[in-house]
Amino acid sequence: MVKDLIHSWGNRGGRFLVIAVVLVCGMSGCVTDPVTGSKKFSLLSRDQEIALGQQGDSQIVAQYGVYDDPAVASYVEGLGKSLAAKSEDPNYPYTFRVLNTPVVNAFALPGGWVYITRGLMAYLQDEAQLAVVMGHEIGHVNAHHTARQYSTQQLTSLGLGLASIFFEKARPFLGAAQTGLQLLFLANSRDDEREADELGVRYATKLGYQAGEASKFFETLQRIEDQSQGGALPTWQSTHPDPGERVVNVQTLTAKYQQQYPSAQYTGTDPEQYLPHLNNMVFGENPRQGFVQGGVFYQPDLQIQFPVPSGWQVANFATQVQMAPAAGDAAIIMTAGGNTDPTSAANQFIQGNNAQVTSGGPTTIGGFPAYQIQSNLNVDDGNGGTTVLTALSAFINKNGILYVFHGYTTQAQFGTYASTFQSVEGGFAQVTNQSVLSVQPSRLQVFHAPRTDQFQALVQPSAQLNFSVNDLAIMNERQLTDQVAAGTSLKQVQP
Ligand SMILES: [Zn+2]
Repeated sequence: MVKDLIHSWGNRGGRFLVIAVVLVCGMSGCVTDPVTGSKKFSLLSRDQEIALGQQGDSQIVAQYGVYDDPAVASYVEGLGKSLAAKSEDPNYPYTFRVLNTPVVNAFALPGGWVYITRGLMAYLQDEAQLAVVMGHEIGHVNAHHTARQYSTQQLTSLGLGLASIFFEKARPFLGAAQTGLQLLFLANSRDDEREADELGVRYATKLGYQAGEASKFFETLQRIEDQSQGGALPTWQSTHPDPGERVVNVQTLTAKYQQQYPSAQYTGTDPEQYLPHLNNMVFGENPRQGFVQGGVFYQPDLQIQFPVPSGWQVANFATQVQMAPAAGDAAIIMTAGGNTDPTSAANQFIQGNNAQVTSGGPTTIGGFPAYQIQSNLNVDDGNGGTTVLTALSAFINKNGILYVFHGYTTQAQFGTYASTFQSVEGGFAQVTNQSVLSVQPSRLQVFHAPRTDQFQALVQPSAQLNFSVNDLAIMNERQLTDQVAAGTSLKQVQP
């Protein structure tokens, strides 16, 4: 944007435009591109970036959950802080988190919040690869990519108005504007991604890692992409340049930065130093956080269950379950948390959202004290107007935890969905099935090859998990017929 304005200097009205640029930069921010050194426009000041990241972080933690393993957390944090110290701005309040999701992804929020999923960690083979992936995300922070995307989106929304999407209407129910999640879905441009790759290689090289190792992980991404579709988070590869191109670029960039930051030896290439961190790590979806079986959603740790309407999609997050029919014209959202009594919780909802209650009152659901209401809500339609939604809401306190359901659709459609909402909310109950209560996640097992043999002869695929020997080959960065020496560390999945 700045470039465009400067370009018009001397042609027409140039003086005014340059003054405008100065004012904009003074009030909010021009940021320096760490690769080219050029100035770029950003609406957000450094403090605003940090505030935005902080706000987004709490939402990401609530939605995806942090992987509960202090040893893994401190390992990732230690590496992240060392890399951040090599970045252009080491003074952001850097925070590194391992998210508890099987999706293969990594991402960053403005201000220094960097996330890597346990799903991605499982597919790495050594610390140098981890360093480049984390360096890439630290690069997004330092180049203000997400902050600048946010700026552009803010500007667009001022001028054009945002497209109306159904879940935008869910905002009163979700409590917050879900800034964190919106930021995730702001795709960085391919140019930004190339720049982040360059910065990732630069930081990793400065720290003494053999950054060229990352090209093997880009090959892994290509292999994953070739055989599967993405998950609930936007997948790392889908928003990034073609992995094939990155395999080559990382090699070129590594040569460039090894010349700039010479070292007798670049390290981090020994799998034996990385793989032990993965031993016993949860792999795949963790059923203890909730799963659907036979048309019922179960959460073993909370010991709750409720029916899932036939044909509806279910998205399970750390503190929330969202369900919607294929048509997308209704939704049921269940959140868990706090220990409010049902009547107070219902009143807070009614007052906080100015809900016009048409029926309802205290009741019992699944044997637990509850309050259920039907109400109409005026909500922003995203186009400057308002629309009326009708909701059936249930507030249930089970053993000191409040569970809140909102089944909602447009006022006109409510008749179609009312009985579905009631069957889900009224079906909330204590889990008694022992096999549900005792379910355990699958875990990674890191073991030493007992003999020299072909890869495919040394690992055990899991039929139960539908995890084939080919999947294991991808996860181990090997081909089926590769010779593996006795004593080499390999990963497999333990059901
Ligand atoms: Zn990226």
